[in-house]
Amino acid sequence: MTQAAPVTTLVERLTIVRARIAAAEQAAGRKPGSVRLLAVSKTHPPAALEAVHQAGQRCFGESYVQEAVAKIRVLSRLPLEWHFIGPIQSNKTQEIASGFAWVHSIDRLKIARRLSEQRDPTLPPLKVCLQINISGEETKSGASPAAAEALVKEIAHLPHLKLVGLMAIPAPAEQLARQRAPFRALRELRDQLVEATGIPLPELSMGMTDDLEAAIAEGATIVRVGTAIFGERPTR
Ligand SMILES: *Cc1c(COP(=O)(O)O)cnc(C)c1O
Repeated sequence: MTQAAPVTTLVERLTIVRARIAAAEQAAGRKPGSVRLLAVSKTHPPAALEAVHQAGQRCFGESYVQEAVAKIRVLSRLPLEWHFIGPIQSNKTQEIASGFAWVHSIDRLKIARRLSEQRDPTLPPLKVCLQINISGEETKSGASPAAAEALVKEIAHLPHLKLVGLMAIPAPAEQLARQRAPFRALRELRDQLVEATGIPLPELSMGMTDDLEAAIAEGATIVRVGTAIFGERPTR
């Protein structure tokens, strides 16, 4: 893990990100506070998360199971909400099912079934998003849009999961219009799925440091922001 950035810097950066979100909500004519900020803390040390929590941030996103489990343990005295956003191997589902409140990166039925079976039934259901490969990139994870309807129907029936929406990580693009296109496609896919299945899918987990304005313009309800809050990550 990296060294934590100085606390003042972290809090200033968090303030800037909140202001970006508020401005984007306003520009899109959306209600203030309608977009939730997920602070993506992968590779950053517990002290950095603690500083950001002190400044009022409650939801944290992690991508690597081992690293996340260690941080969840160290920070267990704080009332944090943990979101898993990384690729999921089936031998890691137990730790994800017991340590997290949300999983954004479900892309196949086998993983969803295991998470449901392994979720402690006395806990609230694990909230999950179906990850969609919206830009159609071969190397990216995510279910294809064509597979989404069948997956939504199956996942919605699993007893210890609550399917709440869709997630995507589009290919990076520079201009706003280019950034908006895949986010719009994800929203339209969501609308079609709701229409076809009758299953409500209120959440759209989309937008990161470089494209959160575009995502909010297209209806994001959760933006996942790492670099703009915590600084650059070491390359892995
Ligand atoms: C790392 C990561 C982010 C955060 O990306 P930034 O560009 O640092 O804001 C968001 N979503 C997912 C799935 C990630 O893995």
